[in-house]
Amino acid sequence: MLNMSRRDFVVSTGLAAALGLNARLVTPAFAQKTPDPAKPFTTYKVGSAEVTAIYDGIWEKAHDPAFIANASVEDVKAAMVKAGLPADFVSIPFTVAVVKTGGKTILCDSGTGGQVQPTAGKLAANMKAAGIDAGKVDTILISHFHPDHIFGLMEKDTNKPVYPNAEIIVSDVEYKFWTDPAVIDKLPEARKGLARRIQAVFPTWKNIRQVSGEPEVAPGIRFVSAPGHTPGHRAFHLSSGSSQLMISNDTAYVPALVVANPGWHGAYDQDAPTAEASRRKLLDRVIADKIMICGYHFPFPGAGTIAKDGTGYALTVMKS
Ligand SMILES: [Zn+2]
Repeated sequence: MLNMSRRDFVVSTGLAAALGLNARLVTPAFAQKTPDPAKPFTTYKVGSAEVTAIYDGIWEKAHDPAFIANASVEDVKAAMVKAGLPADFVSIPFTVAVVKTGGKTILCDSGTGGQVQPTAGKLAANMKAAGIDAGKVDTILISHFHPDHIFGLMEKDTNKPVYPNAEIIVSDVEYKFWTDPAVIDKLPEARKGLARRIQAVFPTWKNIRQVSGEPEVAPGIRFVSAPGHTPGHRAFHLSSGSSQLMISNDTAYVPALVVANPGWHGAYDQDAPTAEASRRKLLDRVIADKIMICGYHFPFPGAGTIAKDGTGYALTVMKS
């Protein structure tokens, strides 16, 4: 039961239905402990731009001594408690920001597509609830090519594009890294399948635009280079009037851990020292410029402010 896959879950709930049982009585080992937000979307303004944070779900990650190279599981548990979160797993929610600005609807990353964790994949339903028509998305900005950020672009099994009419904008560094045939041999086993899927899909799509550096990619939104998590990882900087928002994506991954302890090196960062340098630079910029920040894995709705706190930083998240 502990390693129950999504398929096992479907089979067991199907079996329960066949036996005339209430599927909810069959509680899988991964039953979600964190309640979904009462309202799965939150809209706020950044100048004249409208940002809607949309909940896709959560990964309640089991503790693993290899997760943070220079901190113990006990340290990780203590950091979760300090942030007001449960200690028995690492809370990794997924939140997609949709920005409406300059007459455009811009998606910031694409969610898990229900293909990463059985407790995530709610983006499409919650987008609809927020009144955002997926068919009217003009632009999708992709921070990096990890599954929880790109699988929402492609249908499960068929890889059919979910947004065939939107322009998908990606960093050229990230695109070249993952589509290089030689990368598969260099990647750890757990990432080889991801690279194969990317190589089978992205080069066949005509609506992907690669950009270099830190250009403006949508009205008032610029890419910000923040490598380390992956080679071409990007944050997105939104500016409207005198207001700004740093859409930090995975620069500060789980803030309870690495905003509080920016020197912690996570297994999820491909190049941990570079990721740490990018993180410190971005958090210092947000503090210096007194601007709001949001993060893909920040506690929902994921937007807040950063302050210095001893040797680290502290995040104050706005209420949903
Ligand atoms: Zn992520």
